[in-house]
Amino acid sequence: MTAVAFLGLGNMGEGMAANLVRAGLCVRGFDPVPAARAASNALGVEVTRDPASAIEGAGMVLTMLPSAASVRDVYETSIFGKLRGALLIDCSTIGVTAARALAAAAESQNLTMIDAPVSGGAAGARDGTLTFMVGGEAAAVERARPVLEKMGKAVIHAGASGAGQAAKLCNNLMLAIDMVGVSEACILAQRLGLDTQVFFDIAARSSGQSWALTSYCPVPGPVPAAPSNRDFAGGFSTDLMLKDLRLALEEADRLAAATPLSAAAAALYAALAARGDGGKDFSAIIEFLQQRS
Ligand code: NAD
Repeated sequence: MTAVAFLGLGNMGEGMAANLVRAGLCVRGFDPVPAARAASNALGVEVTRDPASAIEGAGMVLTMLPSAASVRDVYETSIFGKLRGALLIDCSTIGVTAARALAAAAESQNLTMIDAPVSGGAAGARDGTLTFMVGGEAAAVERARPVLEKMGKAVIHAGASGAGQAAKLCNNLMLAIDMVGVSEACILAQRLGLDTQVFFDIAARSSGQSWALTSYCPVPGPVPAAPSNRDFAGGFSTDLMLKDLRLALEEADRLAAATPLSAAAAALYAALAARGDGGKDFSAIIEFLQQRS
């Protein structure tokens, strides 16, 4: 079977690569962090000492990296000029403009690249229940689909190159605002004397319901898998959420779309990151708001 290379074995990549192994694929992976390599190795990924060894002879290269700069660096350093005929599937959130530029650069190297960012968090990555939003040529998307389906519950072709990133930025814009709203409501509910679990049970069945509340509750207790139960470790870092919000705001600015709440949410997450909590899950925004209450 054609080998699949997986670069970036962090909070998301670890679970995604493990699901490909479980599905019977031969997965060679690389991450510069030794602990990430060890964790993936324990889950059956053949980890390599450098990206070039992971990529050598691969039919598909999946990337799950922090930023556009890191994806560009991997492509330019380890892939372009070294790999023929492979399909490049970038699952990172890097923005529309960067995804289109990288797809064009890949094409000039006779490679095909699609953008396939995800929603579902680290739990979705681990459980194989991610939603993939995919941008690129239909034929390339269909080539990727059987592999993506091993890691997710939905693979949706959003349109041409960059369309997956467009959908992802808009999704995370909603999530960023939702989490601030849920946090504000939980703080006020506590101050009004409501038991947190009782308020959760009501809101989860009412019009205030959202994924931020029912899958990722920022108050410990109601959702045991949520990062709030482990002092906001792991999950989706505030730094990464801020990166996504800034990418969305750049596009909104370019296209003159009004996004006042996104801008306000970005300012709050930026303040959380500025005090040194950028590595904590973004639901730690509730701590920031509690301290201002
Ligand atoms: P993470 O920081 O936990 O993992 C990224 C990994 O990439 C790190 O382990 C890092 O060492 C590795 N890396 C950096 N440079 C590398 C290189 N040159 N080669 C190989 N590996 C390299 O981040 P994450 O939470 O897994 O997020 C990854 C991407 O997925 C981001 O773009 C993020 O916005 C997106 N995303 C995250 C979530 C989430 O809930 N965590 C959800 C959806 C999308």
